[in-house]
Amino acid sequence: MYAFEYHKPSSVQDAVAALSDKEDPKIVAGGMTLLPTMKQRLASPSDLIDLGGLPELVGIREEGNSLVIGAMTTHAEVARNETVQARIPALAKLAGGIGDPQVRHRGTIGGSVANADPAADYPAALLGLGAAVITNQREIAADDFFVDLFETALEPSELITAVRFPIPQRAGYSKFPNPASRYAIVGVFVAQTDGGVRVAVTGAKGSVFRVTEMEQALASNFSPESVANIRVPADDMNSDIHASSEYRAHLVTVMAKRAVAAAEG
Ligand SMILES: Cc1cc2nc3c(=O)[nH]c(=O)nc-3n(C[C@H](O)[C@H](O)[C@H](O)COP(=O)(O)OP(=O)(O)OC[C@H]3O[C@@H](n4cnc5c(N)ncnc54)[C@H](O)[C@@H]3O)c2cc1C
Repeated sequence: MYAFEYHKPSSVQDAVAALSDKEDPKIVAGGMTLLPTMKQRLASPSDLIDLGGLPELVGIREEGNSLVIGAMTTHAEVARNETVQARIPALAKLAGGIGDPQVRHRGTIGGSVANADPAADYPAALLGLGAAVITNQREIAADDFFVDLFETALEPSELITAVRFPIPQRAGYSKFPNPASRYAIVGVFVAQTDGGVRVAVTGAKGSVFRVTEMEQALASNFSPESVANIRVPADDMNSDIHASSEYRAHLVTVMAKRAVAAAEG
């Protein structure tokens, strides 16, 4: 690990100021991704801005027909929260299936979303539910937020403060996890929302994406059979030691069927 300066601001305003006036600063939330990256010397920020002293970024509240989850809320808190379990049970289930207990008790929703790992679970929920990422500057629709592999629409000095999830009529998530890390080899989030049906896939490509053909089929008949014969092309899918692109394409259909069945309850 290279040397860096450590800061623990006591307000969002101070955190943003530190982000703006340091040479190469990085926010640290749960540190689950950033610290291993720094230990391997793959990242060398000049300054670490720790959000751990900002209780206003922690918590879950219902606002109209939405759930607003603070950026520093851990996966474990989302998984066990009674409001999430009652309003968007698929989201609680997704959070409870991330990594292991240590990762779930340190890792945060803001860190996961900002990191935009192609195999992370939350991006599927954000895109599948039509969520919005709230920052210190604006609200960004999930459709516009995830740009590419580890790339988001965030500006360098922009900080995620919360994520707003519209409460769906029903939703389900199914993932085929990497047996070691639990990251998604393929994960599919399906939601029937006031705006229509949305199907979002993580793990299969460089970034999370929607499957329009499945959305249209489910809009006319919301059942696992509707997606059972829909195949997605394997051409631009990830291929690695865990799964070939063809296998990932196959898993998209299987996980979509299971996600719809889960949504049906
Ligand atoms: C062993 C292991 C297994 C895992 N398994 C899974 C899994 O199954 N599924 C899954 O989805 N994830 C998995 N993860 C990732 C984990 O869920 C963490 O959520 C993720 O590492 C990032 O969250 P963090 O709070 O630790 O962020 P950090 O590591 O602190 O930060 C990550 C990045 O986000 C930026 N950042 C953090 N917070 C903000 C903010 N509020 N605004 C702007 N930028 C911000 C940081 O600057 C950094 O670039 C795993 C991690 C490990 C180590």
